[in-house]
Amino acid sequence: MNKKQKLLEQIKSDIINNNTCPNLAKTATNLVMGDGSVDAEIVLIGEAPGKNEDEQGLPLVGASGKFLNEMLDSAGLSRSDVYITNIVKYRPPNNRDPLLEEKNAFWPFLLRQIDIIKPKVVVTLGRHSMEYFLPGQKIGQVHGQTQRIKLDDLELVVVPLYHPAAALYNGSLRTVLKEDFMKLKKIIEILEREKENK
Ligand code: URA
Repeated sequence: MNKKQKLLEQIKSDIINNNTCPNLAKTATNLVMGDGSVDAEIVLIGEAPGKNEDEQGLPLVGASGKFLNEMLDSAGLSRSDVYITNIVKYRPPNNRDPLLEEKNAFWPFLLRQIDIIKPKVVVTLGRHSMEYFLPGQKIGQVHGQTQRIKLDDLELVVVPLYHPAAALYNGSLRTVLKEDFMKLKKIIEILEREKENK
């Protein structure tokens, strides 16, 4: 296990040892931390595990996850190039929306994950993760746009996208999401060029 993997494992132990979100922990099968490369240039942040994710202990492996894989594929990326996690790491019962207190409880751990991985771009999937990085903004107005933000000591480049579950059965959103995914590689290239020219 390399250093980043060890630090990420430590977050998992801390969530368990701190008894984070005991109401969700009680009904969940697994703590779903994340999946993908610890050196990823892109970290994608969804909402919370559903049934399949809870059973497998991996984020976005159900219907939305399969659709996400398709989007990544058409954008020339694969799951192993990126790191995928959620704002809430235990499944809410019956897939209800995560509560504010549940999202707040996991937020510091999400920031630690990002700080360890140090991606070039943070992609929020849907409103539950977007509202923490870009409070008050409307997804319909800002989806697919690059924004630079500062959270405590973290300087991040954030690209908010629609959640794959919202686009799965909606033809026009599907096209929008696909087009937004296609922008990600270009965004990374631009950021790299900026860095070289500094
Ligand atoms: N939806 C999410 O946002 N995350 C998952 O892990 C599964 C469904």
